[in-house]
Amino acid sequence: MAGRVDSARRPLMFRATYGAPKRGASGLANAPVPQKIVQRRMTFNDLGLSPNLLSAIADAGYDTPTPIQAGAIPIALTGKDVLGIAQTGTGKTASFTLPMIERLSRGRARARMPRSLILAPTRELAAQVAENFETYTKNHKLSMALLIGGVSFEPQKKILDQGADVLIATPGRLLDHFERGGLLLTGVEILVIDEADRMLDMGFIPDIERILKLLPPRRQTLFFSATMPPEIQRLVDTFLRDPERVEVARPAQTADTITQYILKTTDGQPKTKRAALRAAINRDSVKNGIIFCNRKRDVDIVARSLQRHGLSAAPIHGDLDQAQRMKTLAEFKSGELRLLVASDVAARGLDIPAVSHVFNVDIPRNADDYVHRIGRTGRAGMTGEAVTLVTPEDKKALAAVVKLIGREPDSLELDSVRPVETAEETPGEDKKPRARRGGRKRTSTKTAPMSEDTATASADAPVEPVSEVSEDTPKPRRRRSKKDSGDAAPAPRGFGDHVPEFLLRSAL
Ligand code: AMP
Repeated sequence: MAGRVDSARRPLMFRATYGAPKRGASGLANAPVPQKIVQRRMTFNDLGLSPNLLSAIADAGYDTPTPIQAGAIPIALTGKDVLGIAQTGTGKTASFTLPMIERLSRGRARARMPRSLILAPTRELAAQVAENFETYTKNHKLSMALLIGGVSFEPQKKILDQGADVLIATPGRLLDHFERGGLLLTGVEILVIDEADRMLDMGFIPDIERILKLLPPRRQTLFFSATMPPEIQRLVDTFLRDPERVEVARPAQTADTITQYILKTTDGQPKTKRAALRAAINRDSVKNGIIFCNRKRDVDIVARSLQRHGLSAAPIHGDLDQAQRMKTLAEFKSGELRLLVASDVAARGLDIPAVSHVFNVDIPRNADDYVHRIGRTGRAGMTGEAVTLVTPEDKKALAAVVKLIGREPDSLELDSVRPVETAEETPGEDKKPRARRGGRKRTSTKTAPMSEDTATASADAPVEPVSEVSEDTPKPRRRRSKKDSGDAAPAPRGFGDHVPEFLLRSAL
């Protein structure tokens, strides 16, 4: 666990709301709820956790529970269902792992009958939850199985056969194991659904409903979502029993440690945007950064374009095999890789500490995603900067962001961003890979020629929006391709003129 919740801001975060209306009581689940302001600064000792767990928490370096932890842990310890409305970065993972460990510490695992199940939408998120679990179970003898796509079945099956106290899984892989008969879900006493709204975005709700029906009705459910769209509310109404709602204030306002800019381009041509992006990156203040694109296909194209301009960049999205995604993430975390080009889904929930910059190549379609994205910088009291490219077609999307954050970000003025030049480029010059002009030296901000972009043929072809679904795609359902089974070799970096298979596939 690399990051931590910003302690300087923590007292503010105690404006959590508790005791919202219960399901079905009045049909007013979304009505305004009475607010209870927690006055006193709590410690973990106040939450009813055992000494073993408290010592693991102290070893992890945490003394004060975050609002979602302070709200959810005592309720979860009583065995009641919890509806937690909180997003990544609030400490929500510990708010369900800690009470789970506490409750599971009494009792024993049985072969193929896990006692608890945590469902997460992406492999990375599931892996992070598992990491969290390991940190807090250091003084317990609890066994855990991580069931995610992209890694082979056998080791997972072996742990299941031996008996797992906790299963952490993506929905698709869990159902795969179930369908192969390696798993019985009738022993599950505690179920966690993490990032339910993201499950919805990714089309996992039918899988979730199917899994829920396989579980015993007498169980505890801890359900977490950053937002409560109607489909999620319906799921809660159907599958939770009298849940206690714990909601932490949404950071609709972005942290004041983040300086936000928009960088206006006169047209929305991919080449213009990539040149503007490079100009924004090639400034002294940019130590490292996450670059967001709205489409998976563009993630690859932008990453490749940056590489060709001599920048240390790699893509991360749902079409890359698991080994490659993990490797890229590890390199980014270690500082070996400077720029991570990501889609919203791939980046969601990733615990990446200390990025100096966030760049939005495309303004997000959903204003909430803007807040999620730029929240990747300016963490833990450090300053950060977010730069969003804005084209003339982005007026509506920008207005939605401005409405959400309450002001228009300042304009970033860069000499080298002269999109008019771009418009004069020879049509089609971006269509083929070709030799770079000027060798591999880094392009300077002042002189960056707009035409010097060597992305592949797919780069500027008209693109349909590609729905961003990770490879743990719902089942029954397409059979997994070889790359999904984790057998594929990691995609090479710096491909030269050889276009790797995943790029070709995403360009189809
Ligand atoms: P999460 O929202 O669960 O992804 O957590 C965000 C980050 O906050 C992770 O890096 C956690 O390790 C860290 N964290 C969790 N609980 C606490 C706490 N009580 N105090 C400080 N940081 C925490």
